[in-house]
Amino acid sequence: MMEGSHHPGRYWHVIDDGRIQCDLCPRDCKLHDGQRGACFVRMREGNQMVLTTYGRSSGFCIDPIEKKPLNHFYPGSSVLSFGTAGCNLACKFCQNWDISKSKDMDRLMDQASPETIAIAAEKSGCKSVAFTYNDPVIFAEYAMDTADACHARGIKTVAVTAGYMHAEARKDFYSKIDAANVDLKAFTEDFYFKLTGSQLQPVLDTLIYLKRETDVWFEITTLLIPGKNDSDEELTAMSKWIKKELGPDVPLHFSAFHPDYKMPDIPPTPPATLVRAREIALKEGLNYVYTGNVHNIEGDTTFCPDCHSPLIVRDWYQINLYRLTKEGHCPDCGSALAGRFAETAGHFGRKRIPIAINMAGV
Ligand code: SF4
Repeated sequence: MMEGSHHPGRYWHVIDDGRIQCDLCPRDCKLHDGQRGACFVRMREGNQMVLTTYGRSSGFCIDPIEKKPLNHFYPGSSVLSFGTAGCNLACKFCQNWDISKSKDMDRLMDQASPETIAIAAEKSGCKSVAFTYNDPVIFAEYAMDTADACHARGIKTVAVTAGYMHAEARKDFYSKIDAANVDLKAFTEDFYFKLTGSQLQPVLDTLIYLKRETDVWFEITTLLIPGKNDSDEELTAMSKWIKKELGPDVPLHFSAFHPDYKMPDIPPTPPATLVRAREIALKEGLNYVYTGNVHNIEGDTTFCPDCHSPLIVRDWYQINLYRLTKEGHCPDCGSALAGRFAETAGHFGRKRIPIAINMAGV
């Protein structure tokens, strides 16, 4: 097994019995020398915590921003995306388990310093860099240093995360993030406990923190799993909570499960379930509700929240119509569209371009 570079980790303290407790996420791993946390990539080395994947990546790809998914953050732009290995949740339905459950550091082929990544994004014409594929919470030091390097070059930063993070680290982390997509995996503690090995409340706390105390643009994704989190009752309760605590303008994406990892016997999510979920959330008063990873033009379209004119029409990740004033308002009724918008849409389309990054940047 080849190791990544061991970088001093932040967010930990020594407890009474001499172990070191990690304070990054609510798993609160307590470690003896040489032990790794549940995320596998953070470990105790002597009397400190280290991040073993600093500067190592599972690969770089240029994606459309809509793939994160973010539909209200510079539509049509491209984003340089990367992840590392490991995860701090233990989702039985993981759709990315080859990366997130990897204990094989040989998977981390690309070596890239924060500065190299920022240069590569700039040279590739990307509007932003995304920390994605696995949860950036566990590689927070690498992500935050990369965010600083990106901002120095005018590149935005995006986090795709489960939002499972303690308050102190959360504050530092999101001070360097421009946009996030946060998974809200279900709306019951029972689901979080049994199927993810984590808890719902800290995720809700992250969402409330983002709304009330930051300028981070954020959207929410819920992967609907048949029979597990897709009842009318649960979807209604989730939609009501989002509207009450976060307001009606936070976009919500429902996406389809495919059988994977430890849940191979659950059938794929029928497209009709996504449509039903969208109807429930719209009925509860959310303004922007999308269906993901199924072909549904209506579920991909951004409508004006007031006059309901179609303003951004997508076909998968391709933007076919972009009707906003230069202030980002509806040209028909003048209502403001929530989000971050350029005067014109980007033209990246639905490509996905894997790229190799070397020390020269691309
Ligand atoms: S970040 Fe990793 S080591 Fe730290 S508490 Fe969470 S799972 Fe444990």
